[in-house]
Amino acid sequence: MGMTRTPLIAGNWKMNLDHLQAVALVQKLHWSLKDAAHEFDSVDVTVFPPFTDLRSVQTLIDADKIPFGLGAQDLSVHDSGAYTGEISGEFLAKLSVGSVIIGHSERREYHAEDDAVVAAKTQAALKHGLVPVICVGETSEDLEKFGASAVPVGQLETALENVPDGAEIVVAYEPVWAIGSGQAATPEQAQDVCQKLREVIRAKLGDDAAASTRVLYGGSVKSGNIASFMREPDIDGALVGGGSLKVDEFSAIVRYGKHVGV
Ligand code: PEP
Repeated sequence: MGMTRTPLIAGNWKMNLDHLQAVALVQKLHWSLKDAAHEFDSVDVTVFPPFTDLRSVQTLIDADKIPFGLGAQDLSVHDSGAYTGEISGEFLAKLSVGSVIIGHSERREYHAEDDAVVAAKTQAALKHGLVPVICVGETSEDLEKFGASAVPVGQLETALENVPDGAEIVVAYEPVWAIGSGQAATPEQAQDVCQKLREVIRAKLGDDAAASTRVLYGGSVKSGNIASFMREPDIDGALVGGGSLKVDEFSAIVRYGKHVGV
């Protein structure tokens, strides 16, 4: 097919860094990558700060022409109305937010987001021109009972229902047991699931989508292991939690092509 996928390194800050700290981190990250003569075209970088940071980060990115994508960590299924505390995709799009994490395991666990909610949020993102970064992954109990791929494959099948052909999406395979645990999946195991997820994309959205959609791995990604994941053919980047909060570490993850993973 020959379609190339630009790798994507995505930083999920979770509930960390206020808007002042956010501006400082983005500025320092940009300087760090520039100092290292990073080729910005070769790897896409997107940061996903808390909602209250978005306006400040967007202003900085615009003013300093920083080539980072801006993402949000969640959105409402609704456009507007009496939904206290919710944030609509419409508001995010107005802030030049380009993508939004959907179905992160922490949302699934602490906010009871099931596959139907994830599917509805995927639709809401697409409706407002945002790229949904759809997170799927098995818990350690799932892993024991069903193996690694059955649960994420089922989650993605539901999320992709009613997604129109040609819609841009990103998929993140994040085994729940690997998130924040320091225990990453092996590259081989992650590749195996990511390849199966790509087959789900093919079945639901066709060959072009399967060839062009970026499938990320997430779960205890660090500068020392990123290169080993990026060598796998169906892993097109990483969703990074803890490692995205430290400038030097995240900068080294983005520059994985320049160093050899441990
Ligand atoms: C995440 O929460 O998306 C994640 C991958 O976290 P960590 O990198 O800290 O494991």
